[in-house]
Amino acid sequence: MGELHRLRVWEDPAVRDALAWYLDVAENRRPAKFRIAATVPTHFNPATASEEELWAKLHQLTPDFLIRWEAVRAGAQLPAPADGPSLLELCRELAYRMLAHCNFCPWDCRVDRRAGLKLGACKLASDARVSTHFHHTGEELFYRGTAGSGTIFFTSCNMRCAFCQNGDISTDKDNGEEVDARTLAAMAWILRREGCHNINWVGGEVVIHLHAIVDAVAILGRGFVPTSAERKRARHTKADRFFFFDEVPEFADYDGSFNAPMLWNSNFFMTLESMKILRILTDVWLPDLKFGPGRCAMTLAKTPWYWETVTRNIELLKEWGEDFTIRHLVMPNHVECCTYPVLDWIAEHAPTTPVNVMAQFHPDNFCDPGGSKYRDKYREIARQPTSSELTASWNRARELGLEFETTTFEHRDPLRMMGMFGM
Ligand code: SF4
Repeated sequence: MGELHRLRVWEDPAVRDALAWYLDVAENRRPAKFRIAATVPTHFNPATASEEELWAKLHQLTPDFLIRWEAVRAGAQLPAPADGPSLLELCRELAYRMLAHCNFCPWDCRVDRRAGLKLGACKLASDARVSTHFHHTGEELFYRGTAGSGTIFFTSCNMRCAFCQNGDISTDKDNGEEVDARTLAAMAWILRREGCHNINWVGGEVVIHLHAIVDAVAILGRGFVPTSAERKRARHTKADRFFFFDEVPEFADYDGSFNAPMLWNSNFFMTLESMKILRILTDVWLPDLKFGPGRCAMTLAKTPWYWETVTRNIELLKEWGEDFTIRHLVMPNHVECCTYPVLDWIAEHAPTTPVNVMAQFHPDNFCDPGGSKYRDKYREIARQPTSSELTASWNRARELGLEFETTTFEHRDPLRMMGMFGM
C-alpha cells in the first residue's frame, strides 16, 4: 500500500483538517465506522419488528454510536463486535425495508423494488449492477494516492444530466453485470488488499443501490473472506484484471479484521433517511454540487428539488462533523447561474471544506454535437468552457477565500504534491 500520509497534499491544513479521520482509517491507524457499528449491540426480530420500530432503534442507537466513534477517534480501543445483531445489521434491515417502498432519493417513487413489477425513476428493481471496478488513478490526489482509489462503478442514475460524462453507464440500466452483496463485498475486499486507499462507491448514482451496498458493508464487518467462486465472480467486472497486484492482508487490517475507509461519491440527491443510514457507515463523503438554485437542474437534468436537497445534505455533513470534500464542474454558459451561487453557498455554509472547481467539462451524451444522441435544445452547453469562464470561476472562489487551489490544481504540479522532490 502506498504511503498516503507522505503525500505533500497533506501539508495544506485545510485538506489535513477536513480529512483527518479518513486518513487515519486509510492508514489503518483507526477502524472504519462500519467496524465501530458492529460493536453496538441491538435486538430486533426482522419477522415481527415494524419499520417504524426499527427507525426508532436507529435514532436511539445513533448517539451511542457517535460517543463510541468519538472515543475511538481519541485513541480508545475498539470494543469486541456484538455477539448478536448490531447497528450494522439494523442499517441493513432498514435499507431493505426502504427498498419495499423505495424512498432512497427524493423521487420518493414508493414502488416495491423487491417485486420489480413497477419501476421508479431510476428504472431499477432490486438487483444491483456494476459496470466496472478498478484502482482509479483519476480521482483527487488524497483519494487516488499512490495506489489508486478502490472504485466500484454502479449503473443507472436518479438524475438525467444531458451532459453526463458517463452516459453509457448512467442511462443504460442494463449496463454491466448483476451482482449480489457477497460479490460486492469480495470486490471491496480484494481492492483493499491490493492496496487501494479507500472503497469508492460511485455511479451513475450510488444511492439507488443503497440496499446492496449497505448489505455488502455489513458483510465486510462480520469477518468476511470470499470463497474462490466469489473471487471469480468479482473478477468479471475488474477493469484492471490484466495488471498484477499483490494482495497483502496487512493493507486491509485493523486489529486482525478487514478495514477500509468507505467513500460515498454521489450526486447527493438522496433522502434524509438514506443520509441517516449512511452516517453510520461512511468515513468520507464526496458530494457533487452541480447546479445553482434556479431552473438549471430542471432544464439540464430533469431534476426537481435539486438545490434544497443537495444543500440540505451537505449542511448535514457539516453539522455532523463528517470528513468531506465538494466537487463542482464549471459548465459553459452556466457560470453566473450555477458556479457563482454554488461557490457563494459554499463560502457561507462550508467555508473550510476543500473544493474541486473542475475544468474538465466536455460536451457529451445529449450535448455532443458530433454524437448520435445530440439534441439541439442543449446547444448552449455543447462546447467546453472557455478559459475566461474558468478564470472567472476560479477568481470568484479566490475572492471568497475558498479552500480550492490545492484540490483543483494539484495535477498542475504532481511531482511536488506527491513529494517526489523536496520543495
Ligand atoms: S432510488 Fe429514487 S428513483 Fe429509484 S425507485 Fe427509489 S426513490 Fe425512485
